[in-house]
Amino acid sequence: MHSPTYIRLMNSKRWRLLRAEQLAAQPLCQQCKQEGRIRAAQCVHHITPVETARTDQEAEQLCYSTSNLMSLCYLCHAEIHRQQRSHSKAIHRQRADQALQRWINQHQPKAQKR
Ligand SMILES: [Zn+2]
Ligand SMILES: [Zn+2]
Repeated sequence: MHSPTYIRLMNSKRWRLLRAEQLAAQPLCQQCKQEGRIRAAQCVHHITPVETARTDQEAEQLCYSTSNLMSLCYLCHAEIHRQQRSHSKAIHRQRADQALQRWINQHQPKAQKR
């Protein structure tokens, strides 16, 4: 789910202009280029996701900072987001595991002494 701030930023005139400028400056997919392919970019990706921001101000900085932008084709863009999702899922799982372990440590009767 996207936050209202994210949706507002994505619909802003400033973002649409910046996005067009980025595609004009980097018309080729930067990921494909790295892997030796030439493919036209259709998407402008935020390297650090805008939704990781904790405040609206941070979100705007991440959204509009040109050093946080990358031109990508549809395929690379989808792939990067798939990886980011599985990565954040792994972090969630790890945190859940740690919380569970703490709970077990607190609630489990002490190991029997013999
Ligand atoms: Zn690509
Ligand atoms: Zn993206």
